[in-house]
Amino acid sequence: MMRRTVLQAGLLWLISFTLAWSAQDRIPVRVGVFENSPIVSATPGTPPEGIAIDVIRWVAEQEGWQVTYVPDSFDNLLVRLDRGDIDLLTGIAYSDERAQRFQLSSQSLIGNWGMVFRHAEARIDSLPDIKGKRVALMRGSTHSQALIELAARFDAPFTPVYVDTYPQVLQAIVERRADAGVVNRVFAALHAHEPDLVVTGIVFNPIFVHYAAPKQARPALLAALDRHLAALKADTRSAYYDSLRHWLEAGSADRTPRWLPWAAAAAGSLLVLALAVAGFLRHQVQRQTGELQRRAGLLQSEIEQREQVEAHLNQIAYFDALTRLPNREGFRIALNETLADMQGSDERLALLFIDVDRLKNVNDGLGHGAGDLMLQQIAVRLQSVLRAHDHLSRFGGDEFVVIVSEIGESLDAELVATRLLQSLAAPIDIGSTQVYSSASIGIALYPDDADSVETLIKHADTAMYQAKGQGGNRFRSYHAQQTARVVERLTLDTRLRQALERGELLLHYQPIVALDSRRMVGVEALLRWDDPERGLVMPGAFISAAEDSGLIVALGEWVLEAGCAQLRDWQKQSKTNQLTLAVNVSTRQFEGRRLVKSVEQALSRTGLAPECLELEITENVMLIMNDEVRDSLDSLRGMGVRLSLDDFGTGYSSLSYLKQLPFHSLKIDQSFVSKIPGQAGDTQIVTTILALAKGFELEVIAEGIETQAQYDFLLEHGCQYGQGYLMSRPQPADALAAMLGRQAIGPSGQAIAGAGFTINP
Ligand code: C2E
Ligand code: MG
Ligand code: MG
Repeated sequence: MMRRTVLQAGLLWLISFTLAWSAQDRIPVRVGVFENSPIVSATPGTPPEGIAIDVIRWVAEQEGWQVTYVPDSFDNLLVRLDRGDIDLLTGIAYSDERAQRFQLSSQSLIGNWGMVFRHAEARIDSLPDIKGKRVALMRGSTHSQALIELAARFDAPFTPVYVDTYPQVLQAIVERRADAGVVNRVFAALHAHEPDLVVTGIVFNPIFVHYAAPKQARPALLAALDRHLAALKADTRSAYYDSLRHWLEAGSADRTPRWLPWAAAAAGSLLVLALAVAGFLRHQVQRQTGELQRRAGLLQSEIEQREQVEAHLNQIAYFDALTRLPNREGFRIALNETLADMQGSDERLALLFIDVDRLKNVNDGLGHGAGDLMLQQIAVRLQSVLRAHDHLSRFGGDEFVVIVSEIGESLDAELVATRLLQSLAAPIDIGSTQVYSSASIGIALYPDDADSVETLIKHADTAMYQAKGQGGNRFRSYHAQQTARVVERLTLDTRLRQALERGELLLHYQPIVALDSRRMVGVEALLRWDDPERGLVMPGAFISAAEDSGLIVALGEWVLEAGCAQLRDWQKQSKTNQLTLAVNVSTRQFEGRRLVKSVEQALSRTGLAPECLELEITENVMLIMNDEVRDSLDSLRGMGVRLSLDDFGTGYSSLSYLKQLPFHSLKIDQSFVSKIPGQAGDTQIVTTILALAKGFELEVIAEGIETQAQYDFLLEHGCQYGQGYLMSRPQPADALAAMLGRQAIGPSGQAIAGAGFTINP
């Protein structure tokens, strides 16, 4: 007896010693949590859960953290973070002010933004429509404030209906206490599925959700989070993606009512029972059967409702609201799937880029309602002549795209194009009017004409423009033009490669000017090729060939390093220390995260500060947006490099992407600048871009300013920066240095070349 007690005491001591020892060994981390489901959910009395918590748990396990959760209101948690009462705060939206006040993880956990939902019967499709309407807003949400400000800028003030939670926002719409309401997209993906709720095109205020730590404290915690989060995001099979799937996709599955399995089981038992007593209790059997039928009916309607919900969610993300065809995102998925199916086979596919001719005439003459009706009918007609496995989608505006798989020869694609054109030949009824429609179609074949999705689309688009240029109502194949050029391209490619090796490449620099002070604030590096045979060759003549062959990656790296070295050199000669260097970057440089590495290398070799570098990326980056590109952009921004969206308005811009992506500025393309000041229609694009940029807090640089009138118009409409021949053409490095010298000796605030812009040589 005595021996057993001693043994028990010994064992107890051993257990408590081991526990104390292991607890001592773990690093205590206090994590602030608040209610922001499904990013973090902190219901009193239950352990916190959500995407941010899954990641914390995973990291804690790897790093040996002993995590204690501190639930509180968001505002209180910010104060606690300031005081260092907690070590980490989950799920805080990025803002410059917060980045100053706390340390924020450089990896974001997830991107989120505000979305406006409306009642099915309210007519709200774009921002101006909310003028005078009742809009439900959650108190204290950043999105609520952002919508109020955005609406004020668009002169569309509305009546706010304040509630306390996102579910109450939706409830207010369903109960018609509000015409519309604002929730965030992560919440919407899970909960906005009532039949009376309709998503509008109004999406705004992109935020990136990060982790925060006190300003002065333990950088190791955030560093560990960043390291693990980057690794988790890089692997699509990681716990991070499991968590996203769990929280974002499980929503629709979770909506199966809890009683459903029980109901099914009960229905089953009832059936057995009914059969057993069938002989004796015929009348009871009938009653039971009635009950069964009722339950089966309920079950069926539950299933239908669930299907509706899932269909609705898909509809939001992958379908175009007007024609109900897949949208650009749906198209991308279908194309990738088709390409994956084709892997290893010698099949080919054709991409048909369809642009409806003269839709603008219908819109202008009969109104947008008529244009919409026409597009709907065109969609039906196009679909009617396609085979079941061809894939039709709407790219937006008047553009449709067809993926035709299992093509034998190019003639097959041309037959499809002919059928599509014929389907539009008969007039279309719009109310009491009939209109005639036609289209221009461009065809590109994979893998004959392109080896990537991006070039395939580009080539089909180019061919479409040819068809349009020849008067429309016809198709053109990219294939035919391409063959003649292959030889030329090959020699160009070889010579360009040699040019790089022989040092025949150089950079010219064009000043970027603050329009109000007229001072030079940066330069854009523009590539030139000093060909011994042809003289100075402009980038228009070789960039796209270099992009097709992949040589652009090496060229781009050279440009980065040469540009950074030049600016550093000017800085050392104290010619300037406030200029930024803008470098153009091709989307191909993102492949394999090459861009991040080459930027790091260029900065570390030349010693240039990251804040001095701005990367100009064309809008087409949105076409290839995937995790790799997004992470690269995040990393670059995290490093302190500035990002700007080049040639804005000319390519495949997607508003919802623009709001998600970490850009600092956008450059209005010169094709728009050249039209101002002019007719209202022409200037409207520029003023809209300026308003949009203001709404998203992006800086704007206008390109191609050639006249004083353009300059004045832009300045008057709030454009901050500009660039163009009026101020200066692109210059060789030494000419630019001379300009910098003049600016350096002038009094502060002096224009880059005195009162006028007379610095053109
Ligand atoms: P971009 O980035 O939009 O550059 C602006 C272009 O507009 C430059 O042409 C510039 O000379 C021209 N420009 C500037 N002000 C005016 C003006 O007032 N009027 C007119 N008509 N044009 C003006 P550039 O140098 O021929 O470059 C053409 C394009 O080539 C660039 O367009 C950029 O997309 C590409 N590019 C240039 N250098 C590089 C590079 O190093 N890498 C990559 N990937 N692309 C580059
Ligand atoms: Mg540029
Ligand atoms: Mg540009």
